Amino acid sequence: EKAIRLDKLLGHSGWGTRRQIKLLCKHRHVTVNGKECLDNAAKVVLGRDRVEVDGSLVRYVLHYYIMLHKPCGVLSATADRFCRTVLDLLPRQYAAAGLFPVGRLDKDTTGLLLLTNNGEWAHKITSPKKHINKVYKAQVDGTIPSDIDERFHQGLVLSDGLQCLPACAQRVGGNRLEITVQEGKFHQVKRMCAAVGLTVLSLHRQSVGGLLLDPTLEPGAFRSLSEVERDLPF
Ligand code: URA
Repeated sequence: EKAIRLDKLLGHSGWGTRRQIKLLCKHRHVTVNGKECLDNAAKVVLGRDRVEVDGSLVRYVLHYYIMLHKPCGVLSATADRFCRTVLDLLPRQYAAAGLFPVGRLDKDTTGLLLLTNNGEWAHKITSPKKHINKVYKAQVDGTIPSDIDERFHQGLVLSDGLQCLPACAQRVGGNRLEITVQEGKFHQVKRMCAAVGLTVLSLHRQSVGGLLLDPTLEPGAFRSLSEVERDLPF
């Protein structure tokens, strides 16, 4: 049994700020098991207590798992004063529930971005110790060295001395590469490419572990993961 504060449950479910919810309760809009509840700090038990606002049932979801086709030009952050963030692409209820991006894609990178409010799940995906493969398609400028895959396999050393874990780089026609990395340091793929004399012109993430970006999702579109998909990255 998990008891949580009524205002937390309502906040989590998108009913407004703490203050707005306090007023909702005070003004008798909220019932718990059919009785008016004026106390916003009252404890309710998930799965047992029936909470309603103006007679409509509040469905409480503890954890969200979302895949987003991140478009170019938005930040992988929860809020920013000047720039649109990935949270701005989702209905407000998700920000209220504490959703955050699992790792980061650069502002100009597109493709699969996972979001959740389950810290443990996010950690399992981002921790370099878990060796979860992330696959990118990169369009590059420069001459692709013929031994690029070997060099990626050996573990590149970046300009600041950072030693990378073994990775893969396969040429997939023209100036395009498919790059697989098992860690996610700042500008990792761009800096790995720079280490072999290439400039990344565009970067798109196709998959995280066994989880592929749903090809029916247009840039900016998102959907929830199924229960099976939640285990696929591992
Ligand atoms: N590597 C990068 O350089 N940028 C990204 O957005 C992701 C991986």
